[in-house]
Amino acid sequence: MVREYIKGLKCRECGREYPLNPINICEYCFGPLEVNYNYDLIGEDVTRDKIMGGPNTLWRYKKLLPVSGNKIIDISAGFTPLIKAENLGRVVGIRELYLKNDSVNPTFSFKDRVVSVAISKAIEFGFDTVACPSTGNLANSVAAHAARAGLNCYIFIPSNLESGKIINTQIYNPNLVMVDGNYDDINRLCSEIADNYKWAFVNINIRPYYSEGSKTLGYEVAEQLNWETPDRVVVPVASGSLLTKIYKGFSEFQNLGLIDKFETKFTAAQALGCSPVVDAFNQGVDTIKPVKPNTIAKSLAIGNPADGYYAINVLQMTKGSAGAVTDEEIVEGIKLLARTEGIFTEPAGGVVVGTLKKLVEEGRIEKDERTVIYITGNGLKTQEVVANVLAKPYRIDPTIESFEENVMSVKE
Ligand SMILES: *Cc1c(COP(=O)(O)O)cnc(C)c1O
Ligand SMILES: [Zn+2]
Repeated sequence: MVREYIKGLKCRECGREYPLNPINICEYCFGPLEVNYNYDLIGEDVTRDKIMGGPNTLWRYKKLLPVSGNKIIDISAGFTPLIKAENLGRVVGIRELYLKNDSVNPTFSFKDRVVSVAISKAIEFGFDTVACPSTGNLANSVAAHAARAGLNCYIFIPSNLESGKIINTQIYNPNLVMVDGNYDDINRLCSEIADNYKWAFVNINIRPYYSEGSKTLGYEVAEQLNWETPDRVVVPVASGSLLTKIYKGFSEFQNLGLIDKFETKFTAAQALGCSPVVDAFNQGVDTIKPVKPNTIAKSLAIGNPADGYYAINVLQMTKGSAGAVTDEEIVEGIKLLARTEGIFTEPAGGVVVGTLKKLVEEGRIEKDERTVIYITGNGLKTQEVVANVLAKPYRIDPTIESFEENVMSVKE
């Protein structure tokens, strides 16, 4: 018998096991399914040296990802920079602050990680059509990876999305469906479509595989900190999957002996206009009250988060914290990151920077904690949120006199 790295799928709630199929929900208890690995076997084969000798993409962790076929759709997602943020650290008062800059992925958000895994898995399953409901970044990434893979592609987005996110999807030429409804409406619609068409919906029937891609944001930070974990991570939350999987990434590294026992505290960051996970955690409950999103942080605007319960569990287990910020604070966060570190992020990054600042001020993140903040998306896609709040440029004629009169002699 061949000894496989992956045993199958397993229900997170009742533990019932399933074969590796494109399914995501337990038939018995409706719990979410998760990939079940053979860690003993993986442990015999995975070492720091082997990882460091791998490609400079998330596929350096292939043995810990649920893809066994050889056809990998890799447009170079992952292995993004971890940057020491001394200027921002000084402003917010954190001695050792790093930012994981995932805004420089191929389609400029962390979604390239989950999609690279999901589309590779969909091909392994034999699908010829991939699809997703999306708040924007996922749309960009699925369309790009489908183009590379030569698959048919259907993308469903809210019709009020930022134009940058629409164009960054259209350019890859998918079937783009704009829906007059919010993300939660579209997600429901897509679940119905998934029942009727043999398509790989990356974040529905392929979700158990897709979400594993997020673990690499835990692995990379540990590897880039020289096989150590930070004292604190600040993570933006939409469905809650990313936060949950960063925790899983650290846990797996620990259990495989690649890092020491980790004690990282997790902080969830949301927009006040859509903060169901933060609210539940701060009220001390683990049941989520769905909300109707109203925020400029559209990539985080999921009012009924699928993994919210598990994200809250991670916050509780790690004695973490949670914070939410207003749209004004999000814009301030975007500007602050740009001014201090030279990185232009989208509202999700503004949420993270704003929440960091707020929680440090409130003493809920300590100044001497080695902290990593996750910057998950790029500001070039959402220029409208800052276009009206920037300093005006000078305007001159092409002469030295005009330059001196209108620029050099203007005193603030
Ligand atoms: C999707 C997304 C997230 C969070 O995703 P989860 O659904 O919580 O896994 C964070 N930042 C950006 C920019 C995103 O697009
Ligand atoms: Zn179950």
